[in-house]
Amino acid sequence: MPTMLEEAVAQLDQVAALIKLDEGVHKRLQRAQRALIVSVPTRMDDSQVEVFEGYRVQHDNSFGPTKGGVRYHPDVNLDEVTALAMLMTWKCALMGLPYGGAKGGVRCNPTAMSQGELERMTRRYTSEIVLLIGPELDIPAPDVYTNEQTMAWMMDTYSMQRGMTVPGVVTGKPVLLGGSLGRREATGRGVAFVTAEAARELRISLGGATVAVQGKGNVGGVAARLLHEAGCRVVGLSDSKGGISNGKGLDIPRVLRHLQEGGGFADLPDVDRITNADLLALPVDILIPAALEGAIHEGNADRVRAKLVVEGANGPTTAAADRILEQKGIRVVPDILANAGGVTVSYFEWVQDLQFYFWREEEINQRLQDLMVAVFRRVWEYAAEQRIAMRLAAMSLAVKRVAEAHRIRGLYP
Ligand code: NAD
Repeated sequence: MPTMLEEAVAQLDQVAALIKLDEGVHKRLQRAQRALIVSVPTRMDDSQVEVFEGYRVQHDNSFGPTKGGVRYHPDVNLDEVTALAMLMTWKCALMGLPYGGAKGGVRCNPTAMSQGELERMTRRYTSEIVLLIGPELDIPAPDVYTNEQTMAWMMDTYSMQRGMTVPGVVTGKPVLLGGSLGRREATGRGVAFVTAEAARELRISLGGATVAVQGKGNVGGVAARLLHEAGCRVVGLSDSKGGISNGKGLDIPRVLRHLQEGGGFADLPDVDRITNADLLALPVDILIPAALEGAIHEGNADRVRAKLVVEGANGPTTAAADRILEQKGIRVVPDILANAGGVTVSYFEWVQDLQFYFWREEEINQRLQDLMVAVFRRVWEYAAEQRIAMRLAAMSLAVKRVAEAHRIRGLYP
């Protein structure tokens, strides 16, 4: 199987051929501009020292500082982090944000670590990458198994080293420390906005539309709640261990409350237990993979029965699966568009931090909706005009923009 980076490069190559990308720019964009591997020695609660491997990769900084999340997961590696950084370049370019793409991660098992261990690991990781980050340089944010608390530790560590408080070094912080209202829900909210737009185009009425969501985290949980509020019937929801379904529709607010209070799927009434494989094959109108990359692959794409797939996660559909879905006539709203709400409100957070002036939540949600809908329309129309899938359309618009920046800036020296 190709690695995630090989897939990301293959995707770029395909777009390069389509838009006749300059060969020099193409070669530059196939690689990351900077990559740092760090070792992160951490004292564990049993007083032993564990040494984790961490990464920070900056793919392209033609438009300004780079931006991208930090992931804690046992599978994190340089290949994956580089691919995710590349994806961030396209995402920021597509949304017209003044950022390039970056990503970071630590290879660890966060679910088996205490808060104290996570704090010490986060602080050491931040110190190790401190040369590469800063409000004008590279701005981390939360990703899988990192959250507002992780960002607060990163901001504090960076600030201690600078001798002053620098809120703009990370986004996705607690609101009290310069975080933005609406950031926590922004990615899921953006997913809901583009789902509504795509549904309208495909004549799927949101009222009563059936939805399955893989992943009940920051992205999947919020998307499930907002689509439930919009009148959809969310019939399936899952996490890493499996999921639940109810053909009449899950009581999403109740399910989420139960999970938040520490309950599990197993002790919920009126639901059937299903596997993640079952969830992806549910006969729904809309499927939202919002967990990890590669969820829909060559081996299971044929079982997908949704009319519309909206990629809440980054890279949830492999290239081979993408072809299968296209042959089956299933529309896919690609990750760089569908989950761009997170980086968009991260951008709003950073702007607010730099100005020390904070906006109302309604204003933030409205600006997010305006931008998501406008970019969705641009991608939809370009795809129709060129008779290509939305992923190729979104990628083409993004890569063209980055290529134009490279052309105008020229090659140094
Ligand atoms: P999260 O940690 O809040 O939630 C991840 C969810 O995925 C959890 O419910 C977890 O149980 C589930 N999961 C983990 N492994 C799984 C597996 N093997 N099978 C099924 N489910 C599994 O993370 P998140 O922030 O919601 O991120 C989810 C995805 O969205 C990632 O691909 C991330 O890169 C992407 N994303 C997140 C943001 C953001 O703002 N948080 C923005 C853009 C993209």
